[in-house]
Amino acid sequence: MNREEKHGEREEELQQNHWNMNFYASGVEVLNNIGCGICVSSSDEKLLFANEKFCDFFYGKVDGKSVKQLLAQALENKEKDNSGELYMEEEDRWFDVHQTEICWVDQRMVDLYTVYDITETKRYQQKIEKQINNDFLTGLYNRMRCEQDLEAQIAQAKKSRGEGALLYMDLDDFKHINDGLGHQYGDVLLKAISHSLQRIPGIESTCYRMGGDEFIVIVTDTNFCMVDRILKDIREIFEKPWFLKGADYYCTMSMGIARFPSDGDTVQELIKKADLALLEAKKAGKNRYEFYNEEADGASFKRLDLEKNMRNATMNACDEFEVYYQPIVDVSKPDNPCMGAEALIRWNCESLGFISPAEFIPLAEYLGLINPIGDHVLRQACRHCKKWNESGHPEYKVNVNLSVVQLLRNDMADRVKEVLEETGLNPWNLTLEVTESLAINDMTRMKQILGQIKELGVRVALDDFGTGYSSLNHIREMPIDVIKIDRCFIEDLGKDEFADAFVKIVCELAAVIGMNVCVEGVEHDRQYEILKKMQIQMIQGFYFDRPMKVEDFEKKYV
Ligand code: C2E
Ligand code: MG
Ligand code: MG
Repeated sequence: MNREEKHGEREEELQQNHWNMNFYASGVEVLNNIGCGICVSSSDEKLLFANEKFCDFFYGKVDGKSVKQLLAQALENKEKDNSGELYMEEEDRWFDVHQTEICWVDQRMVDLYTVYDITETKRYQQKIEKQINNDFLTGLYNRMRCEQDLEAQIAQAKKSRGEGALLYMDLDDFKHINDGLGHQYGDVLLKAISHSLQRIPGIESTCYRMGGDEFIVIVTDTNFCMVDRILKDIREIFEKPWFLKGADYYCTMSMGIARFPSDGDTVQELIKKADLALLEAKKAGKNRYEFYNEEADGASFKRLDLEKNMRNATMNACDEFEVYYQPIVDVSKPDNPCMGAEALIRWNCESLGFISPAEFIPLAEYLGLINPIGDHVLRQACRHCKKWNESGHPEYKVNVNLSVVQLLRNDMADRVKEVLEETGLNPWNLTLEVTESLAINDMTRMKQILGQIKELGVRVALDDFGTGYSSLNHIREMPIDVIKIDRCFIEDLGKDEFADAFVKIVCELAAVIGMNVCVEGVEHDRQYEILKKMQIQMIQGFYFDRPMKVEDFEKKYV
């Protein structure tokens, strides 16, 4: 090679270097202006290159060495080959990390990382997930999430040969609060209950609202050892009153419990069994919990049958429901004349046979069928009493039981008025029996409804007195004509001083405030004699007669 040639080559090399340098400079510029972070690191964990974006992401937040570790960690739980997600807790930011091997300028093989900030996408995803998984009102997880989690928990319990539990809760008589106070207060209550549930250690993230006033709690197999304490904590929530609309309200809860995997190992089966146990708890008087048990299962299936049959019976003009009458006797007069009767419903179900009201009335309330059934009883009773009044007993009165659900209907007074007009019964001869209940807390509303009923000239009796919530003070405030003392006090008359004293005090009090007393459940001479001495006027009980068909009542008393 001659001198010129050499010179030419040198020139070319310089030119090339110049190009290279320019190229390098613009390359860095390019890399600084793309939307992802880029870094190159050698196998000895040295960072050989990082673009501005990458520095923005990590520098000042973690040191060089930890960056490499973080990136490596992201790739450990990688979803695909050579890529994974990285979460920076302190920054609350998410990154998508990709890695490839490249040949570096010095011919070494090095790692090239590209990092994308995916925080916004993640947040959006979380928001959508939250909307899909959470109940809008209470913020608790919803039914869909419950089913997903339950499936995972069943699998987990099976794997670890452990045990978990599904607690299915339903608020008792929530409808009364909702109807009585208005939905906005019902919502406040549901939210307050949800917050209290979530604060119970061990179930913070496994509480679900299934809709309406139904909640589910999953006790996972890891927390199953605490199940007794969890149940106790849940019960305690419902022992305290809730402050709503300026007053204290109690709201109790019934619960059915199914264990997994022993009671069932599919989501559907477990929810169904917990629901059956819940119905058992309601049947056993509410405000309690029942574990699912196989023996009760048969009975519960009968209950589902009952539900189907009751819907059919109500649709078929309530023909299967028959009204029986039990005489109420005036023991203040010679020969204890009959002064009327209490109408007591009987259901002779075509496929299930005879079913007692104690069994089907709570279910009818629960299913919302009590209104048509109650209307049927009211109409029948008024019609029958009208007939008795016209057959030589103008003073006979008929008592009809009203469930709280009926009582809180906005149009209850109108219903009563319509039936009175339709049957022509003298309003004075109709007594509506109401029981004390939670709704009694809302005295204003209760007084208002009873007031409307009384304006029609109808009388009101407080049924099962002594078993409910009311204090003696309540009866002074309520527009009541008759107090019906519950059978449980009468059973113990002459045997238990408290029972004797209770009946006596109620009678004296009633006399002072101008109310009448009717005593229920009198069966024996002993009870009758004691009551006579207390100068009770009205007695109802097997001692005189049992509830009977209208034909029998008319044969004997009309
Ligand atoms: P209640 O209103 O307190 O009715 C009295 C219950 O005591 C009746 O039971 C009656 O048969 C029973 N009884 C009366 N005297 C005696 C006695 O001397 N000894 C005993 N052991 N029992 C006596 P029944 O007919 O089974 O009704 C149970 C409950 O079902 C009623 O209690 C009432 O709360 C409800 N019920 C009955 N009919 C209706 C209805 O038409 N509508 C509503 N909402 N509830 C009803
Ligand atoms: Mg009654
Ligand atoms: Mg009663």
